[in-house]
Amino acid sequence: MLTTVFILIVAMLGFLALRLRDHYRAVRALRDALTVRKPLLRDGLPGTLGADWDELCAAGTQLIEDVNRLDQQHTGQLAQLEATLGSLQEAVLIIDANNYVLLANKALHAIFPKARNIFGERLELTLHSDAFLSLVEAVRAGRAQPRQEIEFIAATGSTWVEVTGSTISPLNGRKTPSLLFVLHDITRQKRLESVRKEFVANVSHELRTPLAVIKGYVETLVDGHDSVAAVDREKFLKTIQRHTERLNSLLEDLLALSRLESGQNALAREVCDLPALLSATLEELRSLPATAGHHLALKLEPELGAAYLDPLKLGQVFENLVGNALKYTPRGSHIELVARIHPTDTIELCVRDDGPGIPAEDLPHIFERFYRVDKGRSREKGGTGLGLSIVKHIVQLHGGRAWAESRVGEGTAFYFTLPARLPS
Ligand code: ADP
Repeated sequence: MLTTVFILIVAMLGFLALRLRDHYRAVRALRDALTVRKPLLRDGLPGTLGADWDELCAAGTQLIEDVNRLDQQHTGQLAQLEATLGSLQEAVLIIDANNYVLLANKALHAIFPKARNIFGERLELTLHSDAFLSLVEAVRAGRAQPRQEIEFIAATGSTWVEVTGSTISPLNGRKTPSLLFVLHDITRQKRLESVRKEFVANVSHELRTPLAVIKGYVETLVDGHDSVAAVDREKFLKTIQRHTERLNSLLEDLLALSRLESGQNALAREVCDLPALLSATLEELRSLPATAGHHLALKLEPELGAAYLDPLKLGQVFENLVGNALKYTPRGSHIELVARIHPTDTIELCVRDDGPGIPAEDLPHIFERFYRVDKGRSREKGGTGLGLSIVKHIVQLHGGRAWAESRVGEGTAFYFTLPARLPS
């Protein structure tokens, strides 16, 4: 009897264990199906689970199908939105309540090339900017300024962007609103603004010293009308004259630069006999008193012929380059003007001297406006710091390139190219 009961209990336990295992497998199958949103197939389940299980599985499958349909609808809407926004010039970014990117159009990739395929990424990992993240929080809290300028700093340089942000209804089916940002690249405007500010500051600085000197001496002469000795008066007047000339040179160089930069009618080109033009230029330069203590020479390749250029502007280039060589080299130095035809259909011209040279760290900057290696020496020699900028502009307007090579203690060579082709 006891044995029969024991066998019965063991059999019941075995049966229960089998049922439990079936249920456990069914629960796992349902969980997996819900997790990957794949409809649950009846034949994937053990066969003896009963009606409740069938209903649960059917409800689960229905749910999964509904969610998948909604998901497809949502993806379709996003794709449509993305296609519409893709054609916009303005950069558009949409993020969800947790700063995950829901949408970024092509224009955004143009501003931030690294922000490619950022869908689903966290904003913090894609656009590294504390200022932008603060703006995101401010927009979310409803206390952002309507427009804000933000600087994105990268190793390759800064990008300035004007951003407008607002909340929109959720795009990802959740309850919390999404955030929409429209970004406008203003890097170019910012750069121009800073160049303009720097330029105004430089010009003011250049004007201040001569004006202060002139004012001081004029006041002294006016106040001490009777008491200033004749010898001092002459000294003062000479100083005034020197500084007036400096102001005049500055004004002339500024006007020349402004005309060249405006680009319109900046050049009056004609076909010129280059060897004849260079020989005449050299003769004109030789007649200047400043060249008296220097050796000037012209080296022309025999193949050199006609060139299509603005002769007056080319004269100005040589005047500035030879003028510099005269200013910055001691008496007795050699200055050469060299011209040759380059195999790449260009004419290469060069003004070289055997003077003190330019340190390597200054060389990349000398064509910048107001850049001087030795400020005191340049001003004392009547320099404005604009001569090489003018040279570069004239050469570029001709479609050429200007550069300098130098070794301290050995000399400096300024090169520039001009196209050799003549108009047809
Ligand atoms: P600046 O009016 O001061 O001469 P530039 O733009 O013509 O201005 O030249 C810029 C600077 O380059 C000069 O201040 C000078 O320091 C340097 N430089 C130009 N030419 C020479 C040269 N031949 N030898 C040495 N330094 C030179």
